[in-house]
This record gives sequence, C-alpha cells and structure tokens, in this order.
Amino acid sequence: MVKEVKDSTNMGRPILRSPCSKIRKRTSNIIQDIPRELLIEILSRTAQTSFTDIHNAKLSCKDFHEASEDTHVYRHMSLDNIPLVPWTPLTEKQQAFLTKCKDCQNPDIAYRQAVLDYFTGERPESAPGHILRALDSNHIGALYVTCIILLFSGDDGLKACGMKLMVGMKKCRYVRTKLKEHRHKLQRMLRLMWVKNPALRRRPVCCTRQDNHKRKRGWVDNDDIDDEQDDVHSCEACSVDSEIKFLVSSLPQL
Ligand SMILES: [Zn+2]
Repeated sequence: MVKEVKDSTNMGRPILRSPCSKIRKRTSNIIQDIPRELLIEILSRTAQTSFTDIHNAKLSCKDFHEASEDTHVYRHMSLDNIPLVPWTPLTEKQQAFLTKCKDCQNPDIAYRQAVLDYFTGERPESAPGHILRALDSNHIGALYVTCIILLFSGDDGLKACGMKLMVGMKKCRYVRTKLKEHRHKLQRMLRLMWVKNPALRRRPVCCTRQDNHKRKRGWVDNDDIDDEQDDVHSCEACSVDSEIKFLVSSLPQL
C-alpha cells in the first residue's frame, strides 16, 4: 500500500512512500546499530568465502561499503576470482585490488607466490619465505604445501618431517575439512601453470609395508582421499602416500 505523506520541506506536495522504502530505512537503521567491529568481522568472513558475496554486500548499502574497505576485510579477502596465471594482462582494477590485498597482508598473496615459485621450479628457494608469511596467519594451504615440499625434498629426514606434519593435519577434523578444500584449490592452480620443478619427478614412498596392505585391502583409489574418516588407509604412511598419489595425478606435465 502506498501512503501520501506531507512535510514542511516539500511545499505541501505529497511524497509517495511505499512499504519498500520503510523496510529499507528500518534495515539501514538495524545495520547502523551493529558495532563497527562486529560488522567488519562479519564482512571479513564473507570475504573469506566468496569474492562475489562481498562485492554484492558492498553494493547493497553505504555502511557495508565503508566497512568492506577495512584492512581486516582485505586481509581475509578470497582471491579466487583472480587467476594465478592470467591468460590476459590483469586490468588496472584487478592490479589495484591485489596491491591492496598485499598491503593489508592477505596471506593468500604470499601463498600463491610460494605455489608459483616452487611448482614452476623458477624460484623454489624463495618459496619457504612466502610460505612462512602465510603460516603466520595459520594458512592451511601453506601448511599443506609445506608437507609437499618436505615430502619431495629427496632427503629422508625432511620426508619424515613432512609425513609427521601431514598425519598431524589429518588428525584434526577442522584442519582435515580445510585440507580437502585447499587440496582441490591447489589442483586447480596446478592445471593453470607449467609445472617444471624437477624435484617433483622423484615420487616419494612413505609406507614400507605396501605389499602387505595390498594383499589385505587392495589399492586405495584417489577418490578415497576425501574420506573423512581415513579408515580406508591401512596405516598413517599409506594415508600420506595417497596424498602424494593425488598430487602426482594433478601434475600432467611430469
Ligand atoms: Zn601402510
């Protein structure tokens, strides 16, 4: 229903005010009542899961737009909409967006650089530095790539560290869920780049009892890697071997 409203500023002419404008005003008041810190936290969590959602939130109202520009939101911003290896040069807007994310210490910037440096084999020695920066923000993907670097290092001691770290990650339900997400994200990134690191050609083996397991339970399929319980694996080392198998299957060039 549309109501006619008269006020002192419109020279007596009626203003048409629909129920929609009332709702919008009420919503706007509710948002203004939310403490700024809480609003920023809500938006940073939105930014973490979807760039599209945070972009839409920014467009929805002035308060959301202002709060979305906070450093904390950019630190947690998802970079999924920016290809790791763009086929065409990035636009000025995309460059500015990445620069702002970097200035706000978004850990995904350091993580993506580590992935590029290590897997292309162009600057593998600089990958650990970027990984450490991402790990400062507890980046699970960076922890996963750390395991891969250690496992493929060609050094038995480092391989044992990588195995221990990977097994530890799989023991925590929260980390395991995040690991599943990052494993597939990494796979998508690897398909976009030319993987040339020679270290990845030497596939490590962790379980020394593989033959016994094969007789008892058969080979583990790649799909089983996503099994939350990890019960399909005969031992912890087998579970790490299945991670290695998944990674190797994601590297078509090697
Ligand atoms: Zn085993």
